[in-house]
This record gives sequence, structure tokens and C-alpha cells, in this order.
Amino acid sequence: MIALSNVSKWYGDFKVLTNCTTAVNKGEVVVVCGPSGSGKSTLIKCVNALEPFQEGQIVVDGTPVRDKRTNLPKLRARVGMVFQHFELFPHLSIADNLTLAQTMVLGRNKDAALSTGMALLDRVGLSAHAKKFPGQLSGGQQQRVAIARALAMNPIVMLFDEPTSALDPEMVGEVLDVMVQLAREGMTMMCVTHEMGFARKVANRVIFMDKGEIVEDATKDDFFGHARSERAQNFLSKIL
Ligand code: ATP
Ligand code: MG
Repeated sequence: MIALSNVSKWYGDFKVLTNCTTAVNKGEVVVVCGPSGSGKSTLIKCVNALEPFQEGQIVVDGTPVRDKRTNLPKLRARVGMVFQHFELFPHLSIADNLTLAQTMVLGRNKDAALSTGMALLDRVGLSAHAKKFPGQLSGGQQQRVAIARALAMNPIVMLFDEPTSALDPEMVGEVLDVMVQLAREGMTMMCVTHEMGFARKVANRVIFMDKGEIVEDATKDDFFGHARSERAQNFLSKIL
């Protein structure tokens, strides 16, 4: 589904990613963790071409990301992305947030978009809130809307970048529950998160990054059981 081979990226003179190679197969849940500044967000943004990279290749469902002929808006429409800050449109109702990209990008008619949006809103437990505006919802509720909005585009894969790290602790669980459900339904997911409970529950693999490199890429059991590198062991000892 996603294949990264020898991806390297520089911001000016600073090499932020070095020879990153990994894959996310269909239906797999891969958790990406590592210290602050290790390049997790950059890596995940390269997957849907929100950031360019200078070397290597990423192929998403057969489409090479770093290729002049690739239609990037079309690629991005198939890759769902949820960020730390929910980034809903503050001036639009929840219903309009859910339908805008469906109508503008996919060309769905308003009724079809609304019925898809409402079904997903129900799925994240928020059908009573369709007429509200983002500012009237809690952070956890807004993040669930953001997930529903991404799902409304029928993505082939979902990328998450620390979706719970900006939330008050009591709201983390409700967002993780939605993500766990999604994982169990077979969604292909690449998730930057330090929620190791989530990783233990649903991850197939865990990637550990440090200083722009993929230091470990292991099955969940191997990663938690016996991380090979000292850097990963150190990291785990601090967050577990
Ligand atoms: P965090 O856990 O804090 O979110 P991260 O692992 O997601 O960190 P990135 O945001 O990918 O790390 O950043 C990796 C490195 O690249 C950092 O040193 C950061 O300062 C640098 N960096 C990120 N964005 C830019 C940019 N637009 N220009 C220059 N340097 C950048
Ligand atoms: Mg980050």
C-alpha cells in the first residue's frame, strides 16, 4: 500500500531524513514513535506530498509520490490525514465541515455527501452535534469530527500525526477508541503516536525514529519485548 525506499530529505543544509525505508501493507497498522525532532511528522508528511523530499521514492498504492507526472491533489484525496490540532474550518458547521471536501474534491452531490457525513458522524458518536460549530465542541469531539471528515473521502490509508497529544487527558480515550475501532475494521493506518497502549492493542509493527533515521522497524512483540537498539530501549524506558 505504502512503500518508502531510501527517502532522504533536507531542510536547507539540515538533513532531516536519512535513507528511510519501510512499508505499510494493506490492512496494517504501523505506529511511528521517537524523540521530539526525530523526523516523524516530516516522514508522514512526505507520504502524502505535503513535504517534498530530495532522494528516494515513496509509492502509495502504485503511485510514485516524487514524480512530476503524479497528480498530487488526486493522491492526497485518497490519503486521509489527521493532525495534532484538529484543523476543522471554524466558520463552518460540523455538517458543512464533513461535506465540503466531498463535494469540492470528489464532486459528490450535496445529499450524498451529507448522508455519508452523517453516517460517519454517527459512527464517532456525535450525530447530535451536526448543526454546531467546531468552537462549541470539546477538543476530543473536534478530533473525532476530524477523523470522520477524513473517512468521508473513502481514503485507502489514514495517516495520523499525534492526534491525541493536544487533548486534555480525559479526552484521549474517546479518540483512541475511534482509532482502535478503525484499526479493527481493517483500515490501513500509519500513526505517529506515543500512546503505547494503542500500539500494544492494534499495531502490527512499530517504527522507532531517531535523528531522521528509522532505527527500529519491528513487530509489536519484538519492539516491546526486546527492542534491539539502545536508543529505542532508552526511549521506551522513559515513556512506559
Ligand atoms: P515532534 O515529536 O516534536 O513532533 P518530529 O519527530 O515530528 O518531532 P519533525 O517535526 O519532523 O520532528 O522535525 C524534524 C526536524 O526537522 C526538527 O529538527 C525540526 O526542527 C526540523 N524541521 C521541521 N520542519 C522544518 C522546516 N519547515 N524548516 C526547517 N526545519 C524544520
Ligand atoms: Mg511531530
